[in-house]
Amino acid sequence: MRNADFRLPVVIALAVGLGATFGLGQDSEKPAAEAKEEPKAAARKQLYTGKVVLLEEALERRGVKAYEENKGQVVLETFDGRMFPVVADWRGRAFYQDERLRDRKVELICNERPGVPYLQVLAVFTFDETGSRRFTDYWCDICAIPMYEIKPCDCCQGDSRLRFRKQDLPDYLEGPARIPVGRRTATGEPSSEDAP
Ligand SMILES: [Zn+2]
Repeated sequence: MRNADFRLPVVIALAVGLGATFGLGQDSEKPAAEAKEEPKAAARKQLYTGKVVLLEEALERRGVKAYEENKGQVVLETFDGRMFPVVADWRGRAFYQDERLRDRKVELICNERPGVPYLQVLAVFTFDETGSRRFTDYWCDICAIPMYEIKPCDCCQGDSRLRFRKQDLPDYLEGPARIPVGRRTATGEPSSEDAP
């Protein structure tokens, strides 16, 4: 081994050490109020399967009458009959805007946070008439950029279109996360009694 080969780790160790002294060390100088801030609950990516529907319709089917304040809110109904409200954020908002995404089978990759009943959608999969999985977003044909809600193109301000692309579930969903919520028993195992 040449000298240079083992000198490099020493240089890295020095750099990390300096970083801790001059960079990370600043964390301890934060104002007390900020330092005491509760850490955000760790999110876990989960796959949810079902249909996104209007909350008022889902409640009505259960014999629950809701007044106008709930109008327009959407929920994911899993195939075992559970309801999860959807946050209208950069990804979930499309379900509020676009009825083409509602009342159809979807798979949603969502951030699940302890104590938060709302689904924070990260990716949307729909299914075509043959049951083939389609990654679903919006697309500007002129600028070739994806978008995640109905709005003028970020670039040309023109129209975007709903886009469906054949795609498998991502590899980062491993183990139990690949089993859709709504198709499990209480122990987390897949349930054979659930509807497809
Ligand atoms: Zn464009």
